[in-house]
Formats: sequence, structure tokens, C-alpha cells
Amino acid sequence: MQRAERFRHFIDYFSTHQPNAETELHYDNPFQLLIAVILSAQCTDKRINQVTPAIFRDFPTPEALAAATPEAIFTYIRSVSYPNNKSKHLSGMARMLVDVFHSEVPSHINDLQKLPGVGRKTANVIASVVFEAPAMAVDTHVFRVANRIGLTNKAKTTLASEKQLMEYLPKETVRFAHHWLILHGRYTCLARNPKCETCPIHWFCRYYQQNHTEAALKRAEAAKAKKTKEQQKKKKLDSIAKELKKRSVEKDI
Ligand code: SF4
Repeated sequence: MQRAERFRHFIDYFSTHQPNAETELHYDNPFQLLIAVILSAQCTDKRINQVTPAIFRDFPTPEALAAATPEAIFTYIRSVSYPNNKSKHLSGMARMLVDVFHSEVPSHINDLQKLPGVGRKTANVIASVVFEAPAMAVDTHVFRVANRIGLTNKAKTTLASEKQLMEYLPKETVRFAHHWLILHGRYTCLARNPKCETCPIHWFCRYYQQNHTEAALKRAEAAKAKKTKEQQKKKKLDSIAKELKKRSVEKDI
């Protein structure tokens, strides 16, 4: 199957079945989403949703968060991964928002990436979710699932994956495709044990074709070859036994 065809099936399926896919992080405004996305690196959305209500309550504005020390922020996020770094990032991010961006979350990816704790993936998430920009954030789920399905090909880095996805996805689908891939990776196409047997998109998935369809054919071929070999061996043994019996009868005569 050609890659363009896989993309067509991918868009058809998910735009029909998950037309309104969105982030599972809880937030009410761009500033809150920025906090949540920075915290979510290497951590589950479920965990982040447990800690953010208290942060949003006590630090409702960039000014309020900028006035807090990293040590104070740490006490709110001690249960998430890398709390030391993340508390410094949140503090630095809030200060830069106040000092450089008039306490507003910037919309441009280059500006977003200037903020402490904001890499390309986080910037793309904010740009696409908040500003509805056609930006593809590639995280571990997107990277893995896009590769398995065959939407990307031999992409070694998240940036290469992002570029390949952007090349094929129509602009208006990019911000949804990000969530489709994340949610599919989170609930079906799991990292260690993808649920291929019940996966509704297996029929256009490259991984499935390579690891199930082809593997099944190979197993059947190997079993057939083994059976033929056994039949040939039996035939040869029968023939030898028959010959020995014949010689034995001739000797007796
Ligand atoms: S068939 Fe398997 S590998 Fe392919 S998308 Fe579905 S779960 Fe993932």
C-alpha cells in the first residue's frame, strides 16, 4: 500500500470515529495549558490533572507564578517526574511571560520555544491547541504509532517524523492528527504490547501487515514444507524396508 493511501485511510477513519479528539489535560486558559504541558513531559496526563488544580488555584496568573520561588512550586509538583527541573522551568517561564510577553502566552512557535521548559513539542502543542495552528507535536506516542502504521518511513528523530507527517497531512487535519495518534498510542497501539487483534485500523497498518499477515503466511509455508519433508522421509523408509524384505525372501529361496 502506498503511503498516500495509508494517510487517506487514516484521516477517513479517525475523522469519522474521533472527529473531536482533544487533549486529556485539564485547563481553562492558555496559561494553564502551558503549565500542564510543561509538567506533562515524561509523565502521565492523569498525574498532571491531579496536581494542576492546586497550582491553578494558588497561581492563577503569570504574575502570581512569577512571584513564587522554585522551592515553593516544588511542593505542588513533588509527585510528578523531574520536579526539581520542572519547578525551575515553571518559575522561569512565568517570569519571562511577565517580562517579555506582557503576561500573554505567545502564539508563534519561535517565541514559545524561548520560554524555559518549552521545547519544540510543547511549543507545537500550544500553537495547535490554543491557536489552532497546523503544528504537529511529535511525542513518544505520535513517533511510535505513525511509524508503525506506516505514515512515516525510517524517521530517526521526532523532527524527521514531524516533517514527514506535515508533508502528507492536509493543513486542516494536522491539529487533530496529533490527538488521534496520541490517543491511539495510549489506548490501543501500546508500546510493548500493541492490541493488534482488536485494532480497528489494522487493515491499513504496515506493522500489522509485516508482523501478522506476512508472519502468518510464513508460518503456514514452513508447516507445509515440514509436512512434505516428513512424507518424503516416510516414503524413502518404506521403500528401503520393502527392498530389504524382497532381498530377504530371495535369499531364503
Ligand atoms: S494494528 Fe497493531 S501496530 Fe497497527 S496501529 Fe493497530 S495496534 Fe498499532
